[in-house]
Amino acid sequence: MSALWRPAYVAIGSNLNEPQARVLEAFERLAVLPTTRSVLRSRLYRTRPMGPQDQPYFVNAVAGLLTQLGARELLEGLLRTEQAMGRNRQERWGPRVIDLDLVWMLGEAIDEPGLTVPHPGVSTRNFVLYPLADIAPALAIPGHGTVSEMLRSAGDDGISILD
Ligand code: ATP
Ligand code: CA
Ligand code: CA
Ligand code: CA
Repeated sequence: MSALWRPAYVAIGSNLNEPQARVLEAFERLAVLPTTRSVLRSRLYRTRPMGPQDQPYFVNAVAGLLTQLGARELLEGLLRTEQAMGRNRQERWGPRVIDLDLVWMLGEAIDEPGLTVPHPGVSTRNFVLYPLADIAPALAIPGHGTVSEMLRSAGDDGISILD
């Protein structure tokens, strides 16, 4: 017997150590998490940092996964991947070599210390919504409408497609 394969979306961000290469590395690492397949990759975006402005612009993207992991197990995999890539948590919303956030997972509504799903930032952060709209424009977050609708209210301030 095996668990159901469920879709999940993971937001990827980096603004240190060659961010574009770090985002591509993260796509590769997500694809080899246990009982997980990477199905879709968004385009890459160059985005103004949130919070402290004395740091480089970010590269952001979203990965669409199918996984047999539960949300907590997937979060553990994301945090381990951040560690393996040299993430060093310092100031809130400060510069980081990699940030992996679980944005949404089928059937999961969690609000616990250490894990909130859907991720509370999704509805207002255009650097999540743009790449998410590349691969899941019709995804609906309860209470917020679809990704396309959220994107229209979030606007395109500080974001451009990375070429
Ligand atoms: P934000 O969550 O506002 O984007 P951040 O990504 O900079 O901020 P981190 O320092 O990377 O925050 O993470 C802090 C903690 O957030 C993690 O240790 C994790 O336990 C918790 N967390 C809660 N919900 C989630 C989620 N959906 N995805 C990833 N981490 C989460
Ligand atoms: Ca600073
Ligand atoms: Ca984050
Ligand atoms: Ca995070």
